[in-house]
Amino acid sequence: MSTVTQKALHLAERMSRLGTETAFEVLVRARALEAQGKEIIHLEIGEPDFATPANIVEAGARALRDGWTHYGPSAGLPQLREAAAEYTARHSGIPVDPSEVVITPGGKPIMFFVILALAQRGDEVLYPNPGFPIYESMINFVGAQAVPYGLREDQDFDVDIQEIIDKITDRTRLLILNSPQNPTGGVISPEGLKALADKLVGREIAVLSDEIYHQLIYEGEHSSIAQFPGMKDQTIILNGFSKTYAMTGWRMGWGVMRPDLARWIAQLMTNCNSCTASFSQIAGVEALRGDQSSVGVMREEFRRRRSVIVEGLNRIPGFGCKQPHGAFYVFPNIKETKWTSGSLADAILKEAGVACLAGTAFGAWGEGYLRFSFANSVENIQKALGWIGDWANEKLA
Ligand code: PLP
Repeated sequence: MSTVTQKALHLAERMSRLGTETAFEVLVRARALEAQGKEIIHLEIGEPDFATPANIVEAGARALRDGWTHYGPSAGLPQLREAAAEYTARHSGIPVDPSEVVITPGGKPIMFFVILALAQRGDEVLYPNPGFPIYESMINFVGAQAVPYGLREDQDFDVDIQEIIDKITDRTRLLILNSPQNPTGGVISPEGLKALADKLVGREIAVLSDEIYHQLIYEGEHSSIAQFPGMKDQTIILNGFSKTYAMTGWRMGWGVMRPDLARWIAQLMTNCNSCTASFSQIAGVEALRGDQSSVGVMREEFRRRRSVIVEGLNRIPGFGCKQPHGAFYVFPNIKETKWTSGSLADAILKEAGVACLAGTAFGAWGEGYLRFSFANSVENIQKALGWIGDWANEKLA
């Protein structure tokens, strides 16, 4: 037996304020149950189950063979910055110059770097709750004040514009928007965005607009706050390849922002990652400029799965599920079960064999809800619904 005693780990004080993304923790717990021989259906993690389209894989493989295996510029390869600028202009109608684009390993670093660059102690940052957990984690980490705004089921999980306006103070430096939204599937209406833009334009408040699910919208067109007059300079658009092109493991995303901020974000890249993998970036050019048909095919498949999961969850005693307007998540209300979100998610994993997330994984205001990802086959979704239904009929009825 070792006699070496470990010294206490002296962490910097800021580490006590760092949060996490529970999906990765639940994935580890689900895998541990699988290792014990238990069958688990994974509806916890937010990643498309489709393979990356073949033309993109081929471009990546070719790039490796062609020697795209070295460092590149921190802001991204010029051809990908150009392709991302073109793509953003094509989808939003906003003219974008490549100097306004920074390529990062996933969309997540845009969140990390932008909050790091723009917010500090004494500043307030408005963010959605329930919302993607990294927003709150990073705001706290940099020592700024995290100011939540709600997303409510009775408002179809759209934002309450008046609530945001009422929460803006002289110390507000940043407003985080996410549409289509994770975890609720809510979409911010163009009228809402316009009302917000009218209040924000010309003020020293930046908007981080997380549009990573912009292609996964089931009714109407996606709108960005950057489209409203005067707002482009105040907005940082976060986008990426993970959800649109089923490229989560390639680790690629980008931000669109004013060029002076882009230079600072690139400098943070230099300090952190140096650059995004060069061969991934060459594949990214193909993703953005090549055949787009797979995007629509995946969207239509998600639409089919959405109906299956919403109908199925609404048949489970104590569950009430609204139809999401975007992304690939449902956020059923489980208040009638009288269970807390955490204990219900836990029991469904251990006893029913289905991994999902507690609403509270997305902030305190997610209590009373669960989040299921429908990025899984219809067959698996139906099987999971059957297992949860059987369990609920025994334990909840
Ligand atoms: N933004 C939201 C709302 C997300 O749900 C995710 C991933 O789950 C991301 C950003 C980051 O995705 P990635 O870093 O894979 O591009």
